[in-house]
Amino acid sequence: MADNLFADGCAFIDEEYIPIAEARIPILDTGFLRSDVTYDVVAVWNGKFFRLEDHLNRLEKGWNRLRMKPNVGKEEIREILFECVRRSGLRNAYVEMIMSRGIDEHGSRDPRRFSNKFYAYAIPYIWIVKPEDQEPGIHLVIAEKAIRIPATAVDPTIKNFHWGDLTRGLYEAYDRGGYTAVLPDSDGHITEGPGFNVFVYHEGTLITPASGVLEGITRRTVLELAETLGIPAELSEFGADVLKEADEVFITSTAGGIMPVAKINGKTIGTGKPGKITTLIRKRYWEAHDENQWTTPVEYT
Ligand code: PLP
Repeated sequence: MADNLFADGCAFIDEEYIPIAEARIPILDTGFLRSDVTYDVVAVWNGKFFRLEDHLNRLEKGWNRLRMKPNVGKEEIREILFECVRRSGLRNAYVEMIMSRGIDEHGSRDPRRFSNKFYAYAIPYIWIVKPEDQEPGIHLVIAEKAIRIPATAVDPTIKNFHWGDLTRGLYEAYDRGGYTAVLPDSDGHITEGPGFNVFVYHEGTLITPASGVLEGITRRTVLELAETLGIPAELSEFGADVLKEADEVFITSTAGGIMPVAKINGKTIGTGKPGKITTLIRKRYWEAHDENQWTTPVEYT
């Protein structure tokens, strides 16, 4: 493996597979210049993709809603992702696929005339919250300065690079001694944070914001697991008060899974340790990564 040029990761750019450190995109690409892009991230765990079709479907839905007309489809993208992972040899990988508006080849700014560009890469798995920090649970801050960009301006269900608000939230978290932040919307409803959805377990029900958020695949997995475990769950709006009073809180992402929260704004949640429901769902989530119904194995050479 030491002489595998792709061992640190493999990218796909302009029909070529490239070692991750050498991967470059054209400076005139509007994905970079205008955040005119949608993307998705799928995990490979123990050599198997987790919910690959769901991630591909979300990406396709995103590019259709942005009215892009790429010259690759889901079938080719699936093959490219497999090839990136295969070349890297990574068993636990963070696999990103990006559909950019691309490059203006006609000297106009008319988005209909751009050549859309597809990029992908596989790198070692990324944790938003490191496993050793997940064990005690993290300190989550409810942002007060940053609010989530309105869904009427940038649709959060199309996974996007408009991270100005989320990055601002992160700085606010660090300034207030937190690990990360969750952002309210302009009405004070809790939305999501930099790279994750949020759940509360409150009065015997798991609740996650109904709208104004990315419909996370991990969020969906939690809802499906809750159903099989007989845990009541619902999509509903709630404010900072519910978050602070909840018995349990956790955040969810492909990059880290089910991540327990121990403190909100400096105040302990529940017992101050990951709660029973969080622990149960987290266990089932990682078990699911080995189960055929959720996974697609990579055939490494
Ligand atoms: N919300 C935002 C803003 C995200 O960027 C992400 C993932 O990157 C999520 C939620 C979680 O989505 P998923 O569970 O599909 O990874």
